[in-house]
Amino acid sequence: MTVQQTLAELVAIDSVSSRSNAAMIAYLRQRCEFRGLLVHEYSHVDANGEAKINLVAQTSVCDPTVENSQAEACATIELALVGHTDTVPYDPAWTDALRLSERDGKLFGRGSCDTKAFIAAALTAIANVDLAKLKKPLALVFTSDEEIGCLGAKRLVAAKPFRARYAIVGEPTSLQPMRAGKGYCLAEITVHGREAHSAYPSLGASAIARAAHLIRAIEEIAEEIKVDSHDAFDPPCTTLNVGLINGGTAKNVVPGECRFTLEWRTIPGQKTDRVLNAVRKVIGEISRTDSDFSCDIDAGRFDESFETKANSELVQFLEQASARSSGTVAFGTEAPSMIALGAEAVVFGPGDIRVAHRTGEFVPLDELNQSVEILLRAIERFCW
Ligand SMILES: [Zn+2]
Repeated sequence: MTVQQTLAELVAIDSVSSRSNAAMIAYLRQRCEFRGLLVHEYSHVDANGEAKINLVAQTSVCDPTVENSQAEACATIELALVGHTDTVPYDPAWTDALRLSERDGKLFGRGSCDTKAFIAAALTAIANVDLAKLKKPLALVFTSDEEIGCLGAKRLVAAKPFRARYAIVGEPTSLQPMRAGKGYCLAEITVHGREAHSAYPSLGASAIARAAHLIRAIEEIAEEIKVDSHDAFDPPCTTLNVGLINGGTAKNVVPGECRFTLEWRTIPGQKTDRVLNAVRKVIGEISRTDSDFSCDIDAGRFDESFETKANSELVQFLEQASARSSGTVAFGTEAPSMIALGAEAVVFGPGDIRVAHRTGEFVPLDELNQSVEILLRAIERFCW
């Protein structure tokens, strides 16, 4: 079967994050078992009652139920090829979303670029290599729920099914190896006030005015934090954004509550809680001048940044194989999870992230074919 046929079969399986990925996993499992890989499923039922499964298919035996001491005796995966099985939703008006179609050397379909192309390339690569000859363990790792916060990969880290030395995390990078990425953190801040008739403001306390005061201080934090910089990124610093704000109930009521979101993207080397600690310090200072000041912080997400050294063998191999120098990604990936499992991780795959998540998402056929070649060579380079 060609890589294009495999991609067509993958695109035909609707694997939007809100659905169970069981059908996709069943397909991948069958493809991997046919090649003699040993498979293990890690299942989870999400908040909506949908089964979400991570699949690890590998060339060596590793019993994940054994205790730590024995687990160490279990062989380390030399190379893991990692792809997420879920996709973002598609517009119902895109009638060909689940039918791969070719036009001008491009293959269109939901997930064709992000990230089923990489998965199709990995499946094609293992179909074209003599797995019995591999001296070091190879694994294909298929995750769930990447598009809604890398949840599957995080659950896999908690399950610790393996240790890995190198991991290629499939994402559309136009075949440029990406060796570092910023972290992603999010908090919702609720500032409290006291409602009153707006004709008598002294009877109340405006939550919106307090939030404005706090946001002004957050802007100063955004400036101060620029002293930490990382040349591999543009912009080279951690960035902050207050993206949503909502407060008050009527034009003539002193607002009793104001909520806003604070998002920050950390550069490697900076702790994910650095910004939040600075915000807490500022809140302490505001409280000293306004003893009535009160707010709640609901910090929902702390995704780590990642960085794999430029002289990593995997980075150097992919730079040479793709004839592209390594770069950095601005979007969240499963690379930090693979690093947590011991790997030097690089994000790499066919297709352009700028067309991912759009109606009319596509992967260039030549990049798809090239990625099969590169993954084949990676298997030979690292596992022989
Ligand atoms: Zn993706």
